[in-house]
Amino acid sequence: MAFNVAIDGPAGAGKSTIAKSVAAELNYIYVDTGAMYRAIALYLLRNGIEASDSAAISERCKEAKVSIQYVDGKQVVLLNGEDVNPYIRTEEVGNMASASSTNPDVRLQLLDLQRELAANNNVIMDGRDIGTNILPNAQVKIYLTASIQVRAKRRYNELIAKGQECNLEDIEKDIAERDERDMNREIAPLKQAEDAVYLDTSDMDIEAVKTAIIDIIRSKQ
Ligand code: C5P
Repeated sequence: MAFNVAIDGPAGAGKSTIAKSVAAELNYIYVDTGAMYRAIALYLLRNGIEASDSAAISERCKEAKVSIQYVDGKQVVLLNGEDVNPYIRTEEVGNMASASSTNPDVRLQLLDLQRELAANNNVIMDGRDIGTNILPNAQVKIYLTASIQVRAKRRYNELIAKGQECNLEDIEKDIAERDERDMNREIAPLKQAEDAVYLDTSDMDIEAVKTAIIDIIRSKQ
């Protein structure tokens, strides 16, 4: 049976950095579900759809076929066959993903893909509703978080390192808005699963978080 690790938590908690590195160490597949929501958001943006137009989002999201490939161990998200990894990491796409992921049709569209990957592979899957909704039977569930100031600073550093222009105050504001939407939406809101381990990484560096997570996984194997 496939071994599934679910990592949920708010934007900027470091989920993807940690999950990627733990997956490489354990030889598991890393599944970044946020990237899938971002791919659909990119499709909607490219087609001029407004974040507030839920009828258009419900209708047009069906045209966005998302699939995943692994190239040298790295997840490549394909949108209607096109590798969109270079375009999905902007704040604009992130904000649209946060808005459009409240739409039930968008969520339904990605559900089977996520469950199928977890059924057929040992995965570390990160997102918002993995432990609560997508993989309720995951052998390991972790809720990864950090203070909003620490999360904003991490995201700022990430964007600056990529050469993107940004402003710390705006990022903090965006993150607060995303938290609010992700935690209070009607369908599959972000919350800690009852059986998830809670990990606040505000005062931990990447290596310490990685070690803590590997210890949790090994204790359940
Ligand atoms: O994690 P990331 O910032 O890439 O996710 C982008 C957006 O996609 C999040 O703000 C969240 O609203 C949405 N998302 C979601 N469920 C997931 C993963 C991401 O609703 N499992």
